[in-house]
Amino acid sequence: MFQYTCLNPISHVGLDLLTDDYKKTDDINAAEAVLVRSASMHEMDLPENLTAVARAGAGVNNIPLDKCAEQGIVVFNTPGANANGVKELVIAGMLFAARDIRGGMEWVLSEEGNADIAKLAEKQKKNFAGTELSGKKLGVIGLGAIGVKVANTATHLGMEVLGYDPYISVNAAWNLSRGVKHVQDVTEIYKECDYITVHVPLMDSTKKMISKEAIAMMKPTAVVLNFARDLLVDEEAMVEALKEKKVRKYVSDFPNPTTVGKEGTIVTPHIGASTEESEDNCAVMAVNEIMDFLEN
Ligand code: NAD
Repeated sequence: MFQYTCLNPISHVGLDLLTDDYKKTDDINAAEAVLVRSASMHEMDLPENLTAVARAGAGVNNIPLDKCAEQGIVVFNTPGANANGVKELVIAGMLFAARDIRGGMEWVLSEEGNADIAKLAEKQKKNFAGTELSGKKLGVIGLGAIGVKVANTATHLGMEVLGYDPYISVNAAWNLSRGVKHVQDVTEIYKECDYITVHVPLMDSTKKMISKEAIAMMKPTAVVLNFARDLLVDEEAMVEALKEKKVRKYVSDFPNPTTVGKEGTIVTPHIGASTEESEDNCAVMAVNEIMDFLEN
């Protein structure tokens, strides 16, 4: 009998795969395996019994990797399992930046109950005019599971796509659409692109990689999208640049006091992977990893 615990609710589609050999415990000290989504394990004392942690998601910055390595605890993540969910929200983020969907919807709601709303809308709509993605240049920084999907989908929207990833895997390079230009110098993306989206893991080497200097190279019409981790971007410099109209919009999936409510920001509550499909995929992969590990 193996005991496991879940630090976050995990989709039942994954948990249903566990056989009678697995027993859930709420006592982490009794658990041999932990299933976790985005809860931080950094402040936690890792019990001696623990042998494996499965993170149902891509980024592992909520897991104390050094401590796990010291204690011989194996850490799994679920590469690619939520990539489609994130990709779709990135595309939505670009559309929200290009079109005034939010402004238009807020105006409609402010006229609730008005019998003349359709006529009024005809007069108001000029206030909510936007631009199109087709024909614009997108730069994708990090061509892993998510970046490749974003890049490939954007080509179908008629965007010209540049990708940058000095460590691109053979698999990702194979899957990358021929319409995506793989550049060797990230400054080409900063200088030329209308939309810039970052899809790299948060590590010491990538912290604030979208630096004040990088932001200074961008076009005043540039839109920066961050569905990876907020610490990848120098957000104070970004908010300043937005205020001074040196860039146009910052779309982020990571709410914090630096960005929320600030001019030019569009912020969602870390919902990139919050789709039924992504949650099921991650849970299935995480549970299979734990079972393979404990039983072999
Ligand atoms: P991945 O590991 O498949 O891809 C990451 C890519 O970044 C790799 O190809 C790697 O070579 C590249 N890379 C590393 N350092 C780089 C650098 N300095 N410059 C350019 N490229 C670099 O990961 P993924 O599944 O695509 O996810 C990317 C990140 O997205 C995750 O680490 C996670 O932080 C974030 N994420 C966010 C959500 C959300 O809910 N918003 C969900 C899933 C993942």
